[in-house]
Amino acid sequence: MTTEQASSKNDILFARAQQTTPGGVNSPVRAFRSVGGTPRFITRAEGPYFWDADGKRYIDYIGSWGPAILGHARPEVVKAVQDAAANGLSFGAPTEGEIEIAEEICRLLPSIEQVRLVSSGTEATMSALRLARGATGRDKIVKFEGCYHGHADSLLVKAGSGLLTFGNPTSAGVPEDFVKHTLVLDYNNVPQLEDAFASMGDTIACVIVEPVAGNMNLIRATPEFLQRMRELCTEYGAVLIFDEVMCGFRVGLGGAQEMYGIAPDLTALGKVIGGGMPVAAFGGRADLMQKMAPIGPVYQAGTLSGNPVAVAAGMTTLKLIQEDGFYEKLSSQADKLVKGLTEAAREAGIAFCGDAVGGMFGMYFSENVPSSYGQMMAGDKERFNRFFHGMLDEGVYFAPAMFEAGFVSIQHDDAVIAETVEAARRVFKRIG
Ligand SMILES: *Cc1c(COP(=O)(O)O)cnc(C)c1O
Repeated sequence: MTTEQASSKNDILFARAQQTTPGGVNSPVRAFRSVGGTPRFITRAEGPYFWDADGKRYIDYIGSWGPAILGHARPEVVKAVQDAAANGLSFGAPTEGEIEIAEEICRLLPSIEQVRLVSSGTEATMSALRLARGATGRDKIVKFEGCYHGHADSLLVKAGSGLLTFGNPTSAGVPEDFVKHTLVLDYNNVPQLEDAFASMGDTIACVIVEPVAGNMNLIRATPEFLQRMRELCTEYGAVLIFDEVMCGFRVGLGGAQEMYGIAPDLTALGKVIGGGMPVAAFGGRADLMQKMAPIGPVYQAGTLSGNPVAVAAGMTTLKLIQEDGFYEKLSSQADKLVKGLTEAAREAGIAFCGDAVGGMFGMYFSENVPSSYGQMMAGDKERFNRFFHGMLDEGVYFAPAMFEAGFVSIQHDDAVIAETVEAARRVFKRIG
């Protein structure tokens, strides 16, 4: 750390934050533990940029971890929030806005016949699991290593020691008893999934998957993997849950389910549907959703669910992403970024590759694009960390961990991408 950085406002704020907040942050990855150094405290954001407490500007490739698909502080969204706020912040009684956003979600994702609004992705997946268990009367759930579905107890699990053994908690405070029904399998491993169903198919309540994984860097599911998963769930009466909290409205307007042409039974949504405000949702087949309270036996509730201010931001965002050519432009910007970074790395002789799906991208310090958690973990983490800090110095903010996907917004125009690639060219040379 240079002396200049040591006296920065970010350092002062970070020291102060740590007095009252564990690790100084309200969500762990913000703390830079993986890459080292001081997190930047953000004071404002606009379009593809944000500014830290020292007034330094960054090109932002996190976009609030996905929601900022329109770029930051899009005037129409800010106006919708201001207008809604002027009418009152929360009522604890239903509003017409909740009907409108539900109708829009059902229209855009035809596998969703009914939907329930919640406030975070964690709530959405947790409730979808409860519904799947309640509807099937079964306990076991299947998840895949490297997929993140929020921090509900039964989902904080890593693979057990042997094939088809039940998982181990990845967090203190999660009793073994709570995860003993969670089977953790390899992503993209079809034979393993088939074995699991062959040996215990009629006890599996659901399979939950990120159909485009974005929490182990970016990893695409193979079409065969998702197709076989769909067939097995149907054959054995298990509920297929697509966790599209990240990839929904991000890889395309119809999400990963449209891209792969596979209809899940339930879908979890979040991030983009709130446009930067706390909105998330789960929904799917009407016969399943009808099992939810108040009409069915599966309980779930929320004081701020369907909050009118948050819903106004979400609804405005959902309208704006339907403008002509939105996803073509978004994908093309992500593709240009990945192509530019790859060329710059090659010039410096660095093993690097990338991938992009819609407005999500992955950067890998390895020769080949990974297809599983294990392959992703084999990347050169030390070199990524040097790249991350080099880019940060250059005013480009990527996710502060090799295990995260990146995001472009519709405001990342050619000039912004070119500036990023030029910065990367300098950084790759330094770390080559
Ligand atoms: C972010 C995320 C979640 C959790 O959402 P929160 O709003 O952070 O609780 C769940 N699943 C996936 C795929 C995510 O990316």
